Amino acid sequence: MSIFEELESNVRSYSRSFPVTFVRSKNACLYTENGVRYIDFLAGAGALNYGHNPSVLKTALVDYIECDGITHGLDMQTQAKREFLEGLKQYILAPRNMDYRVQFTGPTGTNAVEAAMKLARKVTGRENIVAFTNGFHGVSLGALAATGNQHHRGAAGVSLNGVTHMPYDGYLGDDIDTTAYFEKVLCDPSSGLDFPAAVIVETIQGEGGATAASFEWLEKLAALCKSYDILLIVDDIQAGCGRSGTFFSFEEAGISPDIITLSKSLSGYGLPLSIVLFKPELDQWEPGEHNGTFRGNNLAFVTAAASFSHFWADNRFSQEIGRKAAMVKGTLTALCLELSGHELSHRGRGLMQGLNCARGDLAAVIAAECFRRGLIIETSGAHDEVLKILCPLTIEHDTLKEGLNILTEAVRQVCQAVAPEPSEEDYFEGLRLVS
Ligand SMILES: *Cc1c(COP(=O)(O)O)cnc(C)c1O
Repeated sequence: MSIFEELESNVRSYSRSFPVTFVRSKNACLYTENGVRYIDFLAGAGALNYGHNPSVLKTALVDYIECDGITHGLDMQTQAKREFLEGLKQYILAPRNMDYRVQFTGPTGTNAVEAAMKLARKVTGRENIVAFTNGFHGVSLGALAATGNQHHRGAAGVSLNGVTHMPYDGYLGDDIDTTAYFEKVLCDPSSGLDFPAAVIVETIQGEGGATAASFEWLEKLAALCKSYDILLIVDDIQAGCGRSGTFFSFEEAGISPDIITLSKSLSGYGLPLSIVLFKPELDQWEPGEHNGTFRGNNLAFVTAAASFSHFWADNRFSQEIGRKAAMVKGTLTALCLELSGHELSHRGRGLMQGLNCARGDLAAVIAAECFRRGLIIETSGAHDEVLKILCPLTIEHDTLKEGLNILTEAVRQVCQAVAPEPSEEDYFEGLRLVS
């Protein structure tokens, strides 16, 4: 029995899908203690948009540590924090004409979501928050109330209050505009909906299965929030920092959220760092009213600042992401066409795309086959039925091609073992053959 099985809690999850021990990593590849190389289509669940150990960020970090730069600074002023804020302003906010205040929260995504929801309630004096079906916002109690997944919600042990779930874009079929339903219940004094302080939404649902809302739906949602005086929170923890193709995932939709949460790839180096951005008039916190010991991860400030100037000084990186996203989309849509007897479909946008296999057991066998062939890829969605392609944005062209080839071969192999539109019996016999 390994020390992991002996000592680590049963709660561990990714280590079960990928039961090897990693020792080294560079950009889009991970290496095990036995020297086996894996291509990484998981990228820290979106925390490694710039790849593993990006050289420019590593140099900045090592130099900073060598000079005994501040590591832990509570929320005190440090040079590293100044350079982070200056970089955020110069490369991210100012070019997009965005006027926002920055709140440093505890270092995990769920900390940022808690702060965003708390602020919205404080500012409006209302309690209810509208979240969406299949949304994921973290697992601490406030954020968990906004998370849809029953597996996570069931572990709460207390009632999860103060959130109402509305149907996300496409939830009721392609032809139904779910914002029309939202507006109807907002206007109807007998709908049973407590008038919300805010709406919290992912523009592309990460854990929900790489489901992208249309720009039109996002525009309608933003307009609805504006006309009813409801705050719009975009949870950009997974879809942000370039994942969608632009720094913020909502840029192309042309909306202007009141509150934005960022975490996962914000430090650019896999170091924990989270912030909440909000419009200046919403900055109604009293000093110290919301705090946290690890709000000042200065090592993360250093790498984040380096990521802003290195990747976001012009639009070349966005164009590069666009080219790779087109490659992923081309591969996935061709695969759906080739195996049209199977219920496969394409989802998502940017480098946050998925292959919907319609069944969780099928997606699981494909993911396991990918791993056997040297590719790390995870499933997501309500029934874990979507294979999610979440490679580093910086992945080399050839490595991306190699990873997509592995995925293609694995999907072919598993689908061919399972007859198209199989009876339940054939289906399970097919799965047994390949697993
Ligand atoms: C991962 C994620 C979170 C939670 O972040 P943690 O660091 O795991 O707490 C919240 N929202 C979204 C959209 C996420 O993808």
